[in-house]
Amino acid sequence: MSYAESILVIEDDERIREIVVSALRDVARVVRGVATASDALASIRAEPPGLVVLDLGLPDADGGDTCRRIRELSGAPIVVLSARHQEAEKVALLNAGADDYVAKPFSLPEFVARVLAQLRRANMYGSGRPERLALGDLVIDLDRRTAARAGEPIRLTPVEWNLLRVLAAQPGRTFTHQQLFHAAWGKTYGDAQQHLRVHITHLRRKIERNPADPELIVTEPGVGYRCEAPPTGGHVSDP
Ligand code: CA
Repeated sequence: MSYAESILVIEDDERIREIVVSALRDVARVVRGVATASDALASIRAEPPGLVVLDLGLPDADGGDTCRRIRELSGAPIVVLSARHQEAEKVALLNAGADDYVAKPFSLPEFVARVLAQLRRANMYGSGRPERLALGDLVIDLDRRTAARAGEPIRLTPVEWNLLRVLAAQPGRTFTHQQLFHAAWGKTYGDAQQHLRVHITHLRRKIERNPADPELIVTEPGVGYRCEAPPTGGHVSDP
C-alpha cells in the first residue's frame, strides 16, 4: 500500500538521491528524483507531488529561496535535508514554509518515519477542515472553540486556545516561535520566545497529564513547539 501518489526528491548528490528514492519506494506509488532547483520547480509545475524532499545544498539556487518558491507552487509537505545543524537555519526554513527538517547524516528508518508522519498529517487535515480533533483523550472542538479531556471541559484563555488550535491542527509539524506568536496575537513584536514560554506553560498545566513532562506539546529547543499526536489520536470524523 502506498501513502502518497508521488514524492519528489531534490538532491544533487547522486548517491544520496538514490538511497532516498529507494527508501521511499514503498511509501509512494511514484518517487521522482531531480538534481537541481530548476528541474524541481519544472517537475512540480508539470506534476504536483504529494510530498517534497528538499536538499538545501543545491548547485543552482539557495535552499531557503527554493523552499519559498516550492511553497508558492504547492501545499505539499516539504521535508528538508541539510548538512548543517544550526537552529537559526532551521527556524528560517520553517518560516519559509518547510514542514520538517532532517540533518545529515540521518538514519534512514527515522527519515522514512518523518516522511510518513508528514503524509499522515497532510491526508488527515489536507482536505477540508475537521470540526473536531482528538489527541488521545483530549478532544478539541474547533467550531465551538472548546476543549475537553475525558469529557471534562478545560477552560482556556483566547491566547491558549489559539496556540492549541494551531498546534493541534497539524500534529508533527514544528512551528517556529514567530509563527506561533503570529497565530496567537496576529502580529509580531517583542520577544516572541519569552511570551510564548509563559503561555505554553499555562496551556500545558491545563492539558498535559504531567505538565513537567509534556507529551502533547513538545519543545523543539531554539526553534519552537510541535504537537505530538498519541497513537490513538487523529481526526474525529463524526461527533
Ligand atoms: Ca547537496
